[in-house]
Amino acid sequence: MSETAENMVLVINSGSSSIKYQLLDPDSGVVAASGMVERIGEDEGGLEHRVDGETTERREPIADHAAGLRLVFDTFAATGHDLVREGVRAVGHRVVHGGEVFYRPTLIDDDVVASISELAALAPLHNPANVAGIESARALLPGVPQVAVFDTAFFHGLPAAAKTYAIDAKVAAAHGIRKYGFHGTSHEYVSGRAAELLGRDPAELNQIVFHLGNGASASAIRGGRPVDTSMGLTPLEGLVMGTRSGDLDPGIVAHLARSAHLDIDRIDALLNRDSGIKGLSGVNDFRELRRLIASGDEAARLAYDVYIHRLRRYLGAYLIELGGVDAITFTAGVGENSPQVRADALAGLSRFGIEVDPVANTAESRAARFISPSGAPVAVLVVPTNEELAIARAARQLVERRG
Ligand code: AMP
Repeated sequence: MSETAENMVLVINSGSSSIKYQLLDPDSGVVAASGMVERIGEDEGGLEHRVDGETTERREPIADHAAGLRLVFDTFAATGHDLVREGVRAVGHRVVHGGEVFYRPTLIDDDVVASISELAALAPLHNPANVAGIESARALLPGVPQVAVFDTAFFHGLPAAAKTYAIDAKVAAAHGIRKYGFHGTSHEYVSGRAAELLGRDPAELNQIVFHLGNGASASAIRGGRPVDTSMGLTPLEGLVMGTRSGDLDPGIVAHLARSAHLDIDRIDALLNRDSGIKGLSGVNDFRELRRLIASGDEAARLAYDVYIHRLRRYLGAYLIELGGVDAITFTAGVGENSPQVRADALAGLSRFGIEVDPVANTAESRAARFISPSGAPVAVLVVPTNEELAIARAARQLVERRG
């Protein structure tokens, strides 16, 4: 490994029991090293660290996020980058919920950490874990600027009609209840790349983006600004996901409480962890789902049909909200890798100018690409998302602006 880390950005995505990270050059996007700490707080923890095509594995209990990040730094030092000695240009942290407070990349200080902690009421699973990652990184790299990039930020300016829930306005105001939207870094990055590939100014384009990973969301974007998105106050609303239900009748929550005597945490867990594709079919990975469908499993077939039905419902809504669309883009694990999902989501829509070329759609490629026939009125694209690069660039830009 040749280059030193001083001009690179360390991007940290700290989850409740994991830390994903990348050390990368924000200009070229070249990743010097990446990895993941898993099962923090459990008996059997571990780390996988990749550098120059080589993977280093460590299996040991990891007590907390601070211990996890120390192990990451030790492994960096052992494999060529002593981050403490070399320094890095900045650390970029993915933070899930910025609430009403944060809507652009923000330089982290004690007050910012306190505000992110306070937003835990809106994101109890995510924000405390993000704070743990931030505090660990600040302790290890005290002189290095740390930047928070918020998953909600891109959607901050949603039109009032799109972000307002039709409940008692005083209750909503007292509890911060509005549509915030998530996966914003991905929707912004992917829609920007789609405009680049089209050779058009984003300001001229109406776009729909489907981020279909384990979590899944859709957005409608006019002139580079989002006008609607499927996730809401929390990442539970909207599309059917790996383990999350997405949209449902809110009356189901009260019904479960009264009839099944489930307390609110159990219902929350049911809807977030045991629903979606997993709740319907028993598996949450799309590759396994396809195998089950191929073997004639009817529950898996139904799960897939519900998934596609929901996608198309959002597609229809966003087509009308935008008054026509120039580009539809698929991204994330399922969106980038499942030609079947892309074909089924857009089937039978040629009267709206929406067509998928079967050869382009099934071609093996990891590159950003068009999958609509040439000359089609609506461009359909697959664009691999790269949230780490977007976070690294945002962090570097903020640090440079400060001089
Ligand atoms: P993500 O959250 O973006 O990492 O996406 C993870 C999901 O992508 C997995 O749970 C799989 O369901 C799906 N996925 C990954 N690779 C493939 C593939 N080759 N074909 C279909 N689905 C895939």
